[in-house]
Amino acid sequence: MKLPLRPEFVGEVPYGAPQMELPVVLNTNENPYPPAPEVVAEIAVRVAEATASLNRYPDREAFALRADLAGYLAAESGVRLAPEQVWAANGSNEVMAQLLTAFAGPSRTVLTFTPSYSMYPEYTRNVYGRFVAVERGADFAIDVAAVPAQLQVYRPAVVLLASPNNPTGTALDPADLRAILEASAQSGPEGAASVVVVDEAYGEFRRDGVPSALELLGRYPNLVVTRTMSKAFGAAGLRLGYMAASREIVDMVRIVRLPYHLSAVSQAAARAALAHRALLMEQVGQIRADRDALAAELRQMGLQVADSDANFVMFGTFEDRHAVWQRLVDRGVLIREVGPAGWLRVTVGQPKENAAFVEALKEAR
Ligand SMILES: *Cc1c(COP(=O)(O)O)cnc(C)c1O
Repeated sequence: MKLPLRPEFVGEVPYGAPQMELPVVLNTNENPYPPAPEVVAEIAVRVAEATASLNRYPDREAFALRADLAGYLAAESGVRLAPEQVWAANGSNEVMAQLLTAFAGPSRTVLTFTPSYSMYPEYTRNVYGRFVAVERGADFAIDVAAVPAQLQVYRPAVVLLASPNNPTGTALDPADLRAILEASAQSGPEGAASVVVVDEAYGEFRRDGVPSALELLGRYPNLVVTRTMSKAFGAAGLRLGYMAASREIVDMVRIVRLPYHLSAVSQAAARAALAHRALLMEQVGQIRADRDALAAELRQMGLQVADSDANFVMFGTFEDRHAVWQRLVDRGVLIREVGPAGWLRVTVGQPKENAAFVEALKEAR
């Protein structure tokens, strides 16, 4: 029997980072610290409370959670938003899927600047859209002077900008982002704006003085900033991502969300974790310091290291990066073979894991 798989998906395979059980796992940019006992206890209590009414559907607008997320963003970045400007879903992956469902789709273009997040082409494929990737220039920065012309040629419904970018770690220059936003007011389909999505999955790890795109939300109604609890927040297993945008954009995304997409258990667990944000933000400070130390150490070994505002470091270059990756695996260290030819990416782990990685790399290179 022949099954009617859509032509877009024929020959495709499910995507995911290779998973291996090794002593040192530094390949998916998770927070290396498990939740503290007091966070675990609080989540357990709040989930138990939510369980008492599991016969009922959850709040399908997740309003209390969105208010808590707005409070968190105000504390983290100084930008005050109404809960109606925040939207949450099962991971920022789902937020992105909802955004592309609302704004992209058949006969529409999604534009990004590569190397970047490997999921962007797949999100676009899943809504039968056209994906266009423009190469980044030196130091993995976007050539902003060329962007207005590119917008006119491709007329993207959505522009995806990861900042800090994965896998390079590069943050987008705020002046560059403003220039892109200025050029995007009518660059979409049929004279509409392009929706400009700044994916700040690693936003909390940015270096001092690097602003968040959240600061520009008041000025640009076509700007979306996505965030996640998967990385800095140490809750990848929770599957909770969110976005901040104009009320108009949030209301458009609400049209396409599945009813009750975010379970009562997820909402309760996320609110409990957010209540302990002070503890987590302290940990982020530690990871940022360890990242800078790791980057310095790799440079001392004579390697090239891309400046990172994230919780990972891309380094190279190697004539045969796969061989280096494999020799690290042989020594019990899993990193990611990703990025431009010759480069590898390592997630910042706990100090002893970072040390084990450096020792292994000295033998493996
Ligand atoms: C890890 C990552 C995400 C997070 O996805 P979740 O679905 O929230 O876990 C989003 N964007 C980028 C660029 C990432 O690297």
